[in-house]
Amino acid sequence: MIPLRLVQSIETALTEVTAKSDRIRSCVSIGGGSINNACKVEWANEFYFLKWNSASKYPNIFDYESHGLKQLLATNSIGIPEVLKVGKNETDAFILMEYIGQSASDKTFWEAFGKQLSDLHRNTTNYFGNDQDNYIGSLSQSNTKHDRWSAFFVSERLQPLVKMARDNQRISQQHAIRFDKLFEKIETLFPPEKPSLLHGDLWSGNFLCNTKGLPVLIDPAVYFGHREMDIAMTKLFGGFGAVFYESYNRHFLMEKGWEKRVELCNLYPLLVHLNLFGSSYLYDIERTLGYYV
Ligand code: ADP
Repeated sequence: MIPLRLVQSIETALTEVTAKSDRIRSCVSIGGGSINNACKVEWANEFYFLKWNSASKYPNIFDYESHGLKQLLATNSIGIPEVLKVGKNETDAFILMEYIGQSASDKTFWEAFGKQLSDLHRNTTNYFGNDQDNYIGSLSQSNTKHDRWSAFFVSERLQPLVKMARDNQRISQQHAIRFDKLFEKIETLFPPEKPSLLHGDLWSGNFLCNTKGLPVLIDPAVYFGHREMDIAMTKLFGGFGAVFYESYNRHFLMEKGWEKRVELCNLYPLLVHLNLFGSSYLYDIERTLGYYV
């Protein structure tokens, strides 16, 4: 349930964005998220999606989410929920967006998903990074711009999380030394690619199949990066059909050897998980380090 202290703010926001007056008729909790409270809100015979959290716990988290969703939406490449309002009161912050009704995915869905993600990745720029920082899950993510992918991947992605893991004694000094050795090699391990606009956290919990059977991306951690990061992330916990990869590859050919770089890319989300959830992720990290150092 929406806390009473927040109801007034949400009703004011709904009145403003819909230009209709009503009161919240129902609010059905939605699970599946990792950080925020979420529900489906009924207002003036329509449904809306609402997430909220303490305003101080993750500062600006919904401003960053809104910025990322709008960046993705502006490419016109793949389904993205429209953000209606980001707001806060003294204690809580919230984001209100279009509610995406859902249906079961089939072959056509995966075909479309592969194509549309490749369309998204064709939006490129001349730096790795973004205009503002954001979050991945509940961890801050720096998007300071770099000219080279290797510099960005090491300085803004791997290094800060290796340091955090070391500071919190989730990895040993030996691990940190091995990471340093890996960092020296990164430049030689990735083929050059233009910086692509990425979803940034593309695991199977972060897309929906809408009522037309088409993909809609949610909960992004957007930046311009190497497109293999998004593809690798789809493989981390599985759940993406073979047709998805065939379709993507047909529309935007992956660089040779991309399968071998999946684990390298996934060092980043694995470090995120190691820092957030503990040492059960260390085994996979060690295995990947073992390929390279
Ligand atoms: P969190 O920020 O806590 O990780 P999510 O953004 O992943 O939360 O949202 C939680 C769940 O709500 C998702 O797993 C999904 O099932 C559902 N969801 C997210 N966005 C929408 C939306 N716009 N419309 C309908 N359901 C949504």
